[in-house]
Amino acid sequence: MVIVMKTTATNDDVKNIERLLKRLDLGAHISEGEERIIIGVIGDKRLLDGVPLELMPGVDKLVPIVEPYKLASRTFDPEPSTIEVGESQIGGKKLTIVAGPCAVEDEEQILKVARYLKSQGIDFIRGGAYKPRTSPYSFQGLEEEGLKLLAKARKETGLLVVSEVISTEFLDQAVEYLDVIQIGARNMQNFQLLREVGRLKKPVILKRGLASTIEEWLNAAEYIMKEGNYDVILCERGIRTFETYTRNTLDLSCVPLIKELSHLPIIVDPSHGTGKGNLVIPMSRAAIAAGADGLMIEVHPDPKSALSDGPQSLDFDGFSELMGEVAKIAQVLDREI
Ligand code: PEP
Ligand code: MN
Repeated sequence: MVIVMKTTATNDDVKNIERLLKRLDLGAHISEGEERIIIGVIGDKRLLDGVPLELMPGVDKLVPIVEPYKLASRTFDPEPSTIEVGESQIGGKKLTIVAGPCAVEDEEQILKVARYLKSQGIDFIRGGAYKPRTSPYSFQGLEEEGLKLLAKARKETGLLVVSEVISTEFLDQAVEYLDVIQIGARNMQNFQLLREVGRLKKPVILKRGLASTIEEWLNAAEYIMKEGNYDVILCERGIRTFETYTRNTLDLSCVPLIKELSHLPIIVDPSHGTGKGNLVIPMSRAAIAAGADGLMIEVHPDPKSALSDGPQSLDFDGFSELMGEVAKIAQVLDREI
């Protein structure tokens, strides 16, 4: 439930409500809109039975949240969320570009990519250390060694590090090295992993499951938020359809839809979304045009020799071209890159 305050409500009115909720063991999430404040009630709303909240000074009305996901819903927080990571912000005017190889392969590879990305002026590097591969015979990632190499790249370049965790077992270890945790498509409904990530104070990129509806995806975000971690960034990465020319079908209609349903930032991964390097730039343009807050792009110094996802990875020239193309779209939309 949310408490919609009157446009004339004072700070004291808001504080009073916060105090009352706290006494009842409920939390309050304050969303300051241009005209009025909305207070999202966190916790079991049955604790409010018989409490005449609507009669309190400054209160306009009480609105129930009808969606199955509450904290992730736009009703709970009508203002778009921005998420701070180091000096960077995700969900603000500036687009967030997360780029890097599918997998960390060795020191030379990741440092080469990191230095190049730094020269492109982006803030985030990605690289898989624990790789959830379809075949058990494919390269499974360098695991902790990969995380150490990412930390080394951060130390040298100052880039913020994003990498996927695939189980609760490695979570504590991984968190030491990462600025943002990635939950991959295959783990979008690994509820125990979602709960544990929700107890951390680290932003989480939550990728959409391979065959998940938007409602299931937002419910997965809710699992994380319910534990107290509100720093969730959604990432559309394509879904399974009958089409086989592309690896997945990139569902760009989800971008404006998510913006209506949720206050969470959303980025788009056209690399996994299409599986084809030649489609990455056009779909990046389209994603930003549709209102995405950023992109996740696979970049490799030599895609042909990549240990995973080479066909969908851009080389350095390709990525530079992408940045130029995205900058044009950003300008039209009054966004920065
Ligand atoms: C990845 O980002 O490397 C990855 C495995 O993506 P997804 O979980 O979207 O398949
Ligand atoms: Mn990949």
